[in-house]
Amino acid sequence: MEIHHTKHHQAYTDKMNAVLEKYPNLAAQPLEELMQSLNGTPMTNEDATAFRNNGGGYLNHKLFFEIMGPKKEVDQTLATEITTAFGSIDQFKQQFSQAAVSRFGSGWAWLARNSAGKLIIYSTTNQDSPLLEGNTPIIGLDVWEHAYYLKYQNRRPEYIEHWFTVLKLL
Ligand code: MN
Repeated sequence: MEIHHTKHHQAYTDKMNAVLEKYPNLAAQPLEELMQSLNGTPMTNEDATAFRNNGGGYLNHKLFFEIMGPKKEVDQTLATEITTAFGSIDQFKQQFSQAAVSRFGSGWAWLARNSAGKLIIYSTTNQDSPLLEGNTPIIGLDVWEHAYYLKYQNRRPEYIEHWFTVLKLL
């Protein structure tokens, strides 16, 4: 996790900043808004792709590291909403794990809120942010090999199972 944070997360952050430095006019806009409106961006295609990948990497990892920690900050409101939407916390974990296990190659599993306010579970490829599709990420799990290979080698399901023990929200 330390290498993940200090090396991988930092690399996405640095590369995102290198893109944004070319567009001082966009500096005042929140990164989430830049991601949501990437289709109409004034960036060149090459820079828009770099922002999609590295800005996505930055935003995804920022959330990932924020939602991990000791379970003393359980979000009861969210837990209740998840139970209503998916039947139980266990059923939510099963569906979420399935999305994380079955993502082919590199990507993320998400609990997100869609534009209609509904909770949805799905996965994205590479560093694509849910914001690209108008969804707001709530819980994100990194299933790139760099997230688990050092400790779990190819055992992604074991990593996912253990990760729930450090998800502080539930
Ligand atoms: Mn990562």
